[in-house]
Amino acid sequence: MIGGGIIGMSIAWQLSKSGAGVTVFEAGRVGNEASWAGAGMLAPGGELSERDRLFDLAMESQRIYPGYVAELSRESGVAIDYRECGAFSLAYSESEAEDLRSLATKQNLMGIYSEQFSPGRVPGVRAGALAAQYYPGDAVVNPRDLMRALVVACRRANVTLRELEPIREVAERCEFDGTVLAAGAWSDQVKVVIAGDLVSLPTVIPVRGHLISFDLTGAGDDPALCDVMVRHNHTYLLRRWGNTIVAGATTEHCGFDRAIDGRVAEELAASAAELMPALSNRGYSAWTGFRPGTPGGQPCIERLGDSSIWLAYGHYRNGILLAPVTAQLIAAGINQASSQMGSPLPAGLRR
Ligand SMILES: Cc1cc2nc3c(=O)[nH]c(=O)nc-3n(C[C@H](O)[C@H](O)[C@H](O)COP(=O)(O)OP(=O)(O)OC[C@H]3O[C@@H](n4cnc5c(N)ncnc54)[C@H](O)[C@@H]3O)c2cc1C
Repeated sequence: MIGGGIIGMSIAWQLSKSGAGVTVFEAGRVGNEASWAGAGMLAPGGELSERDRLFDLAMESQRIYPGYVAELSRESGVAIDYRECGAFSLAYSESEAEDLRSLATKQNLMGIYSEQFSPGRVPGVRAGALAAQYYPGDAVVNPRDLMRALVVACRRANVTLRELEPIREVAERCEFDGTVLAAGAWSDQVKVVIAGDLVSLPTVIPVRGHLISFDLTGAGDDPALCDVMVRHNHTYLLRRWGNTIVAGATTEHCGFDRAIDGRVAEELAASAAELMPALSNRGYSAWTGFRPGTPGGQPCIERLGDSSIWLAYGHYRNGILLAPVTAQLIAAGINQASSQMGSPLPAGLRR
């Protein structure tokens, strides 16, 4: 496994459950990149408007999420903040209300259920909303809990974790049944050589996002505030266990620049406070992460030709949501390919 984010670690855990010996090579520390930064919305209602492969994958992953979380929590002993809390999408102008209604009509036909809700009854939000749509199926999870749990579950299942070991090249060797490239926004930087030829990989584009979180501890916090996720245009608010509200997110094309831009964070805080006035004049902390984007918006979850190399990257804004289904697909593919071949397929790693 190349990459120890939620995708690599979920696949490693899934493979280990079928008895495979798995080694994860991680350039830095496991779970420190996008899978640490993500907000953790599991929200087809907020994300999907087309019936494409992403839609099918997302709906299946949403369906199996409760089982994935329950098993992971049981196997690791780590409590995971996962809540099927639902979400409100809000409109503050006639044109936004029209967009909200037509999106909901389209999504209902696709199988994403939502219903109109009285905008004046959405708790905590700025007055004056003209329309609200309630998506009961949208959920949230804390990705940092998932990563902590995956590390424990993988260790218990004898997965070897090799941190601070970046893989630069994958070449033909007879060491592994399969090699999975799951290096998030860095995946296409790994050199892949098959039968002596350098293979060109599907492109992945780093898309930086800023997120902020408000800690409401000791500030007369209303526990019902943001109990249901809230969205308006590009702003979303969700609650974590305890007294934390997360607000996101920006979409920036600036390469791998990790710097937190104070002005951008200020704008996020202002949008959050505009949507939910109780967040005005509160302190917050900010961070950034790199979503692994692809030119067509679809993730790469596939075998590379008939080689023993598998691609699992490009999950863009939905990698936390898509982790369980990706793990199932890749693990099933590798197990099936190895059983058909009857002997290990060639693929080695070079550092
Ligand atoms: C601000 C923000 C908000 C988000 N919100 C959501 C959300 O609400 N819901 C949702 O579903 N998704 C969300 N996402 C997207 C989600 O976080 C990502 O799609 C997901 O984390 C990708 O997981 P990954 O394992 O592919 O990548 P990563 O977590 O980035 O892991 C890749 C790993 O590979 C390692 N690596 C890189 N190069 C090498 C190498 N050469 N050798 C070995 N290891 C290597 C890296 O160090 C890294 O640890 C958000 C992302 C961001 C940034």
